[in-house]
This record gives sequence, C-alpha cells and structure tokens, in this order.
Amino acid sequence: MKNRFSSNAIAAFIVILCVSASWYSFAEGAERAKNVIVLIADGCSSEQYTFARWFKGAPLSFDSYRTGAVRTFIADSIVTDSAPAASAYATGVRTSSRFVSVGPGPETIESVPAPGPEMQFKPLATVLEGARLMGKATGIVSTSSVTHATPAAYAAHTGRRDDVETIMLQMVHQRIDVVFGGGKDLLLIKGADGKRGDDEDLTVELKEMGYKIVENRKEMAELRKGPVFGMFAAGHMDAEIDRPSLHPDQPTLEEMTQKAIEILSPDPEGFFLMVEGSQIDWACHTNDPAHLLSDLLAFDKAAEAALNFARKHGDTLVLVLSDHNTGGFSIGNYEMGRIFSGVSQEAFLAPFRRMKKSASILWKGIGDEKSADKVKKAVLEGWGMDITLADAEQLLLLAGDYKKKGRAEHLALGRFLCPRYTHVGWSTHGHTGGDVPLHAFGPGKPSGLLDGPDIGRVCAKAMGLSLERLNDRLFVDAGRVFGDANVKVDKSDQLNPVLRVRHAGKDAELPINRHWLILDGKARRMEGVVVYAEKKEKVYIPMQAVNMIRGRRLGNDGMVE
Ligand SMILES: [Zn+2]
Repeated sequence: MKNRFSSNAIAAFIVILCVSASWYSFAEGAERAKNVIVLIADGCSSEQYTFARWFKGAPLSFDSYRTGAVRTFIADSIVTDSAPAASAYATGVRTSSRFVSVGPGPETIESVPAPGPEMQFKPLATVLEGARLMGKATGIVSTSSVTHATPAAYAAHTGRRDDVETIMLQMVHQRIDVVFGGGKDLLLIKGADGKRGDDEDLTVELKEMGYKIVENRKEMAELRKGPVFGMFAAGHMDAEIDRPSLHPDQPTLEEMTQKAIEILSPDPEGFFLMVEGSQIDWACHTNDPAHLLSDLLAFDKAAEAALNFARKHGDTLVLVLSDHNTGGFSIGNYEMGRIFSGVSQEAFLAPFRRMKKSASILWKGIGDEKSADKVKKAVLEGWGMDITLADAEQLLLLAGDYKKKGRAEHLALGRFLCPRYTHVGWSTHGHTGGDVPLHAFGPGKPSGLLDGPDIGRVCAKAMGLSLERLNDRLFVDAGRVFGDANVKVDKSDQLNPVLRVRHAGKDAELPINRHWLILDGKARRMEGVVVYAEKKEKVYIPMQAVNMIRGRRLGNDGMVE
C-alpha cells in the first residue's frame, strides 16, 4: 500500500476531503426513478455552454436544471481522459487513465489511496448492466463509433480503451436493446468491408440473438422495437455541420435519442439510456468553433428530447453533464485585450454564423498541393473569413509544424485564426482538469459538488440498485472459486481464447468476451460477459456460470434457488 502522507496531518485532511467525502445530496422526499437517462457532452464545460447559448439566442434545453458540478480527477491523474471519466459515471469507481470499467492500476496520485490487489484491473459492473439485470430495457447512443471510450465504459471492460475489437465483441454480448452510432466496420471481418482481425462476423451473432441491424435514418425511423444495432457509419459519424452535405442519410443525435426512447420506454420495468455528444470533445481538441457549435447544439436538442420525455413521465431521472473539459476554450483571447466593450453581440457572433464546414473538411478541401492562395480561398469559402495572404502563409507554416510532429495539419486552423479573426480563444489541444457543470431533473436528482464516481452511485441509487451486490453477481474470479489449477485460458485459437474450467470431473468452456457457457456439450447463455484481466492473468465470470458449473438448481432469476 502506498502511504506517502500518513505523517502529514494537512495532507491527510486533503485526502479525506478529496476522496472520502461525497458532496451530493438527494432531493427531499426523492422517489425511485423507473427510468434513467444520462446525457454526456464529451469534453465540454461552462464556457462552451455560454458560447452555444449566445449563438442559439435562447437558453439551452438543460440550462434551468443546473444543480451543481462534478470533479473529474482520476486515480492516476488530475486531468482525465474519457475512458476513466465515463467509467466513474458508469461504475461508481475511480479508475486509471485509458481504463474502461476495470479497477485502477497500482500507481495513483497522492490524494487517491492505492487500490488493493483484488481491485486492480478487475472488471467493474456498470449501471447499464445492473439495469438490464433488473429487467429494464437498456440503450446506448453516440455520434462516435459505439466502441469509443464513453459508450464503451457503460458496456465493456478492458484495460485498453483502444482495444475496440474486444469492446465491440463484449457490447454485442451485453444484449443491449438499442445501440445507435457508428462502428459498423468493427462488426465485420477484415477484407469483408470490416476491421475485425478475429475472423468473427458479429452481424451473424447479432442476428442469431434476434437483433435487427439498420444503417440509415430511414431504416431507423421505421423501427418499432428492439433489439437493434443502428450502425450509421463504418467508423465515426459525421460532424453535425458536415452531415447534411456528406451523409444526409445519417440520423441526428436528436433523432437517435428520440427513437431510442420510443423503443425503450414501453418496457414495464423502465429503462436506462446513455446518450453521448461524442464530437464536442473532438471539436475542442481541434480548436474548431464551427464543429463545436454544431455538435453542442445538436446535443442540446437531444437533451431536449430526453427532458421532454421526463417532464411528461414523472419517474425519469435525467442527468446532463460532461466527462471533462477540452481545449481550454474561452470567450475572450490574447488579441482582444481586457474588455469587450465596443464589441456588439452581433459582431461577436458574426464570424461563427459564416462558418459552413468543420476544420477537418475545410482543410481536406484544399487538396494535397497547398498554397497560400488556395488556403485563403478555402478559409473564405468554409469559414467566411477574408484572411490576408500573409496570414494564409503563416497558417501553412504552422500546419507544416503540426505535420512534422505527426499531428493533423488542420489543427492549425482554429488555433491560428480564432485569436486573429474572432473573439474566442483556446489554450490546448488536450483536456483540462476543471470541474464540469451538472444538470439534473427528476427523482433522485443530485446537487452540490459531486465526485465523478458519485454519478454512478446516484444512478444506481435512483434505480434501487446495489453496485456491490451487482459486482459480486457479475464478476467472480474463476480461479479463486475453482482453484487456479482447474482454470486455464486456452489460447490455442489465438484469435478467440477460451476459459476452460475443470470441476467434478467435467470440463466447462467459456469463450472470453462472450456470454456463453458450454457445458455437457450444450451452449447456455449467461447473464453477463466473461472478462479476461490480462495484466493479472485472471478471468472473471458471472456467479450464474459458477452455479451452473457446480450443477446447482437455478431459479428464474438465474441464481441458486
Ligand atoms: Zn471525453
């Protein structure tokens, strides 16, 4: 155990303040929420909301529900990435950089106690998995590939957020009722339009499980029920600002959210839905105000759809929040001095009203042979800025610097042009570490300054779900139960490893990342997925599988009678 600060009373005080305290409170007389909808504006904070509100010329749909803020630090960093941030929201546990709903690694910052060996890298049950076991319908909606960090944290468990093949495989086996977003190439085999290296066509598995697969907004509009995978792009979906010209057949975030609610809400037990405005973060990474405004206002409409549903049905908890801030966006910049007097509202907004493309598409449009002339023309056409030739030359030089560092050239656009031709600014292409605003509506709504993991606990508590019991039910260390000698990960098929368990003279087979148990020559569905924690060479299986292998009689709920 790490204990760098036990002799220091002040440090101990900080630890208690940072780690132990949960500053959330439940509304007086709060009742259970039948439905929970979590909407995450990835990589966004107050300043972006203010900017979008001015641009919209009206309040954002969730403005009046601001109840507090959320601290975003993680186990091993003051500044988080999307994977551990969303993992905290999904599981109620603070974990490490790049981890997707698995326990933290041993290295932690001073304010976070190092986790015990049991907890390290262990899969952590999510509120979505809990909702499903409670009999609720479940859904995930994103504008990125659905395997991207935020949606992944609700439905997959891995220590590597870029292991997108594993994430998609687990997602398919989670039996989520509605999955809408991009990522179709991760369902298909390499060479057959896909990217999977494991030779598994997951569309076959989905169809066997009764899923419908839809690929455009028309097919989505015709849906009346789940289960469904809506895969609207091979990889990520378009930036909202580019969507109408590039792929008008992709649905908007609002349309996906609306349809997801329509499919999920008839469930008599209620539903859990996570919606992510994925690209607000990418817009801010790029320092691109055009992409930021279009995607944040698309998110605003999605939140409005969720809130409209919740206002009509008094039994729905809606949380609207971000996972962290990105880009260090500011209204105001180095060039414009200390005050804004003399800048009218319209003069402030005018440059953004003229923007017609994301920075990425604007830059692509210039072609490979770039000249200052071409850059000047493209910026005028795409962003409505009549920049000088000298500035176009400097912009090209900066783009060249980015390229030399192995980064995208178009990152130069917003960074260079925003301070010169607008009144907004940026401080980084990365994430920043401040608190993010929290908006909440409905039964069990929290208020005050929360800690990231509190969000997971709030969702669980509102649904009446014990995350502790859920973890015991979904993720049992197979070696501990059956003895390490009787448990082996068989990698003879390297692409599709299988856990083999020897018990009472019989062999059971459990394919990794799937929800199957093969026993006595029969394949049975389990209520959770099999997760291999490579770093500690342990495999976690549902308690249900343990009971089946032991030959216990199971009740209707899949547990021992
Ligand atoms: Zn993020």
